Amino acid sequence: MNFDSNNSTQVSQDDPFGGNLLDRAKRVLPGGVNSPVRAFQGVEGDPPFLHSAQGARVRDEDGREWIDYISSWGAILLGHAHPDLIEAVCDAAGRGTNFGLTTEAEIDLAELVCDLVPSIEMLRMVSSGTEATMSAVRLARAATGRDKILKFAGGYHGHADSFLVAAGSGNATFSTPDSDGVLKAVAENTLIARFNDLNSVQQAFDAAPLAAVILEPVAGNMGCIPPEREFLENIRGLCDEHGTLLIFDEVMTGFRLAAGGAQEVFQIMPDLTTLGKILGHGLPAAAYGGRRDLMQMISPLGSVYQAGTLSGNPLAIAAGLIALEAIVEDPSLYNDLEENAARLEKGLWHAINSRGFPCNVQRVGSMWTLFFTEEKVREFEDAQLADTQAFARFHHYAMQNGVLLPPSAFETAFLTLAHDTETIDETIDALVDAIERTYT
Ligand SMILES: *Cc1c(COP(=O)(O)O)cnc(C)c1O
Repeated sequence: MNFDSNNSTQVSQDDPFGGNLLDRAKRVLPGGVNSPVRAFQGVEGDPPFLHSAQGARVRDEDGREWIDYISSWGAILLGHAHPDLIEAVCDAAGRGTNFGLTTEAEIDLAELVCDLVPSIEMLRMVSSGTEATMSAVRLARAATGRDKILKFAGGYHGHADSFLVAAGSGNATFSTPDSDGVLKAVAENTLIARFNDLNSVQQAFDAAPLAAVILEPVAGNMGCIPPEREFLENIRGLCDEHGTLLIFDEVMTGFRLAAGGAQEVFQIMPDLTTLGKILGHGLPAAAYGGRRDLMQMISPLGSVYQAGTLSGNPLAIAAGLIALEAIVEDPSLYNDLEENAARLEKGLWHAINSRGFPCNVQRVGSMWTLFFTEEKVREFEDAQLADTQAFARFHHYAMQNGVLLPPSAFETAFLTLAHDTETIDETIDALVDAIERTYT
């Protein structure tokens, strides 16, 4: 039995699913993966199949080990397989994996989030960042009675239709679907501006009444791009002026840049915030929250419908509680992260500057990207100038040297608390050697 006539792998009669892991994966999962970037297409390599992780390191099914900077795409803060978290999740599992009714732990977590995140007075738990952003936009449309939203080129807010939209040719009012299957009618309601470019934002405000502006306050999904301070301030001002809601998508930055996320760092308060990643610390928990008057519009209090069988799942809540309690108990953990991340940045810059490599490190706290372009990256178009061939070679050598980076030139790498000084120094040596080999 052979399911795939293009597949050269021998498939035994006894074991129709035989073959190596990659072949087996490709037969039953599109591209062999459950999320596209995992296929390693951006680095033209074969993806590893992971077996386990501990602290700052991951290990694959062949026993190869790497220092991990994917960190579950930013969801891991305390380090992999943190003993307290494992215990809490096992304990929760022993009491039942999901009830579909409310537990006390959900209130505990919601109270912690309200305490930590300055602009959140009330929140709704969901299971993924995609659900959070999709629901926040629905709420913004309901609250304003407007259809159109504004997002930024290169900004990622999950895979809901409203966000899979690309900028049309030079005109803020003309957007097109960025994925087949997304209706033009949906895409037309999402305007696109350029990150760190206030003019493009002003143009969008001039073009149509906007329900919401949604952005990553520190961009992380086109590589790490810090916002210019006035950029965020001015967007807040424009939103106030036009009765538009400001949504900070802090799925990545929440609990990562500070206990209160980017809004605490930049002291700019959005109307709505979306959270995910660290909120579940590797289990499926996410949330959207903000002003009480807005959140009271959510069903069953109000008329904006949103629901979920697994929302507030006890295992995910248990994991989130461990992560947030660790933050409350030791707020100085952000200093440790900053110190080690700065050490890594300095080590890379030293090699880049002294050897004249055409690269550039950008970092905010524990988020960083080594861009294969010399110019500072301020927005998506700058990021797209990166030499992706060079990045692919670099990624390959980095893996050979024991360091696992996100397999795309346009992703952010993440430190966890388990990335100690020793691990950082090991990383610097490995990456500097990888850059050298990339250019020889
Ligand atoms: C990861 C991410 C999302 C999507 O979250 P999922 O849990 O993958 O659906 C949304 N917004 C930002 C900023 C993200 O980094």
